[in-house]
Amino acid sequence: MKMNFSCPICGGETFVDFRGRIMEECKKCKSKARERAEVLTLKSLGYFESKKKKVLHINPERATAKLLSKTYGKGYQAKTIGASVDFVDSVSYPDLEALLEAATEKYDVILHNNLLEVVSLRPFEVISKLDGLLKPNGIHLFTVTVRGMRTDEGGDLMLDEAERAKRFGRADRYRLFGAADFPRALATLRQQNNPRFNFAARFSDADLDRWRIPPSEFRDINSNTVFSYVAPPAVAVAVAEADVAA
Ligand SMILES: [Zn+2]
Repeated sequence: MKMNFSCPICGGETFVDFRGRIMEECKKCKSKARERAEVLTLKSLGYFESKKKKVLHINPERATAKLLSKTYGKGYQAKTIGASVDFVDSVSYPDLEALLEAATEKYDVILHNNLLEVVSLRPFEVISKLDGLLKPNGIHLFTVTVRGMRTDEGGDLMLDEAERAKRFGRADRYRLFGAADFPRALATLRQQNNPRFNFAARFSDADLDRWRIPPSEFRDINSNTVFSYVAPPAVAVAVAEADVAA
């Protein structure tokens, strides 16, 4: 049987190994599995049906950035921490604090990968703040770097760069998230039953494999897990506010 693969971002059919991961990278657009998973999440939930969306993409990846900026035009905003990127118009900030302070608009889509482990701010405060920037029905999608079952932040110790490099594999990381701890805390914060996007419920293994989103890998909690949250619709917000007023 001949296997046919298709990149949901660019339509490319050839995939190559990347850092030991089999057929991880689309040869044409260079997307990785988690980017394809996030784009599929947005597509399957209808976010591509209207071009009039406001999108906040923090520390963007090339393939997704190009697709989203092409789709949403001026509605797409790429923001980076530190150096800017050369593949899409972006605004850069010295740190996430400055980026969040400058964020006064509301968004239909907020997207970031591997951000929460490299910021000194408390990750759940960042998540709350970003959730609060969503329009009604807006979606917040992200991945984090996961290692082991328990989140490791170094406790109350202020670790210096050398200690962080040793403990977390890279000097710019402040923590690594646990496969058990993180989803549990996230579900509590957001009052969600399932804090991640459920690929298995929407797509067959054959479809996922065709898009090179390894089904086995997306069944567990790991660094490819797409965590998703959709803000309540406008009506529910109005009712909730009326309840508070009453
Ligand atoms: Zn591609």
